[in-house]
Amino acid sequence: MILGTQYYRPPFPEQKYWEEDFARIKDSGLNAVQLWVIWAWVEPRPGEFVFEDYDRLIELAERNGLNVVLSTIAEIQPHWIFRVVPGSELIDHMGHKVISSNRGECNFGLTPGGCTDHPEIWNRMRSFLTVVVERYQSLPNLRGWDAWNELRWNVQSDGLVCFCPYTLNAFRNWLNQTYNGLDGLNNAWKRRYGFWEEVMPGKLPGRPYTEMMAFQHFLTWRANQHGKDRYDVMKKLDPNHPITVHAAFPSPEAGGDKDNHAINRGNDWFLSDNLDGVGCSSFPKWWGQDNIGFSIRVDSINSAASNKLIWLSEVQGGRSSIGFDMFQPVDAPSQQRWIWNGIASGADAILLWCWRDEVFGKESSGFGLAGNDGFASERLAAMKVTSRLIEEYSNLIFGYRPVKPEVGVLFSPQSYYLYWAQEGSARRSVQALQGYSRSLVRKSIPYLIVEEEHLEVLSDLKILFLPRTIVTNDAIEKALEKFVREGGILVCESECGAFSPQGFYRYPQERFITRLSGVQEIGRRKLPDDCLTVRIDEQELNLGISQWLTPYQLGKGQVLAKGNKGALMVEIPVGKGKLILCGAYLGDAYLRNWTADFEKYVELMARRAGWRLEIEVLSPGSTQDSFIYIKSGRSDGKRVVFVFFPPDHDKARLRFLPNFFSRRYAVDIISGKEVNFLESKSGQECTLTASNWKMCVLVG
Ligand SMILES: [Zn+2]
Repeated sequence: MILGTQYYRPPFPEQKYWEEDFARIKDSGLNAVQLWVIWAWVEPRPGEFVFEDYDRLIELAERNGLNVVLSTIAEIQPHWIFRVVPGSELIDHMGHKVISSNRGECNFGLTPGGCTDHPEIWNRMRSFLTVVVERYQSLPNLRGWDAWNELRWNVQSDGLVCFCPYTLNAFRNWLNQTYNGLDGLNNAWKRRYGFWEEVMPGKLPGRPYTEMMAFQHFLTWRANQHGKDRYDVMKKLDPNHPITVHAAFPSPEAGGDKDNHAINRGNDWFLSDNLDGVGCSSFPKWWGQDNIGFSIRVDSINSAASNKLIWLSEVQGGRSSIGFDMFQPVDAPSQQRWIWNGIASGADAILLWCWRDEVFGKESSGFGLAGNDGFASERLAAMKVTSRLIEEYSNLIFGYRPVKPEVGVLFSPQSYYLYWAQEGSARRSVQALQGYSRSLVRKSIPYLIVEEEHLEVLSDLKILFLPRTIVTNDAIEKALEKFVREGGILVCESECGAFSPQGFYRYPQERFITRLSGVQEIGRRKLPDDCLTVRIDEQELNLGISQWLTPYQLGKGQVLAKGNKGALMVEIPVGKGKLILCGAYLGDAYLRNWTADFEKYVELMARRAGWRLEIEVLSPGSTQDSFIYIKSGRSDGKRVVFVFFPPDHDKARLRFLPNFFSRRYAVDIISGKEVNFLESKSGQECTLTASNWKMCVLVG
């Protein structure tokens, strides 16, 4: 496993620090350094490459017994690019040429630079990648390549991009392929275009959905394709090392904003299909994220990675600093829980950002693992312990696989595109999906995020939640129908499948869930002041709701929640499975206002589908801010159980299913102590004491 730190974003840190730093990095137990190989820096004049600093850093790493991960930063382009390739600028939605400039957090190099849809920009970029890979691919201490940092291509465009002739051409080619010609497009879009040149991307949110959704879908595809193009160039030259990319945030969190279409930096699932692995950055203390927020990111990457590598490429090293705002420092226990949470989800590499405090621009004074937020020495001491454990248990960690989830949450990019097309942000989709994910993590229910074009994983699942899935197409509907008919439970929210992929509204009787269930929505109704009361398995649950209600006609199925106009939740058998139709939005409502009842609802639904609880927390009980969560898996026939404690407890009583562990004891590898089980008919019980990192890792 790679446990390393980002070190060099040229020209910082300056050379005078290198020697001492590398010795300290080695001493802290980390085994790798990551270096940014920036195009602008490496090729200051066309065809003239300067590698002296990298050569020296790599040699120093080798001398200190450190591995190297090289990040090819091709998206920070040379300052000569527009002189050598005139007319290659990105163009924004107002028709303005985008002025490129030095990146806010990088001292030298143009961003966004020339458009990669311009063939000569891609030629030049490809030759940079080629020179770098040829130079370093045979290094003895090279561990791998991070081929695209945070999938950035449009930062500092300061508008919606790209409307340059090359991108418009690529968009039309993609439409041509997708719709099989202009007639096909006219037919699907219900338009009368006479020439391809008339077909334009959507300009701004709030206008027709059709071309805006199509353009977003194209931008996602285009980013996937660009990732693959970089990979193909590099892999051909270096088939021996893993080549991955990492996102700034997992695609299900890419809701977009005024300068970003939804999911415009590619889709982790397709990147994973095409590359050796995927990952994402994580700065929990900067973003005010708790352990669950971090866990959801890792779970999402894990879902997308399938059997590919998981590289968590920027995990917060020290306190973040953005301008003159001061954020929370990074204490050692929090950082260690991120690392072990990553391991619990099967991460193959964890790279901290970064070693020293930054000295440049808005990030200056921040982020250093060895930096000045007052916690560096405790962080480094803790890192030493973890490094030693990773070495001692390297076989266990190498063979570790998280348990196979039986519960899924659907990620529907097309629904994101529609929300963004209307609202300029798909935050409702993001929050809806996060709400379900959060409740599942808190309940320690293993789950998979299921991407709408990767539905083959449904065959392993028992239940699928569909948060705000307002857009569906034929292929998805067919796969979902098969899932239900074969015994799965599908939990739908209001207006499920209410729009076509072209963004046209379907009347309730035209939707696939109506076809399947024989029950239809009666239309949008105002929210009542209170919540939705649902009765499931003799329990009454009060669930928060948002936006509107869409009641269902009464008369069929078992009504779980009744409104005065119709059923607000109804369960209908379909084939061997069931459809649960909920005429409300629950996930985002829960995310905004926590309720224990929503978590109970999600758990009851999972149990109804046949999911079985293997590890029960007997005490302490959970509250909004205090709860225990658990991840587990197996390695070489052994059980591995990661237990994360809340800040206010360091003792917990757990019960495992009978024979969960093969012996009457397990070892907490963090504390090194043995934990004994009390065996009974109901299972194996034990009391755990948390280490000062507020966690345990049981192996047995
Ligand atoms: Zn362009």
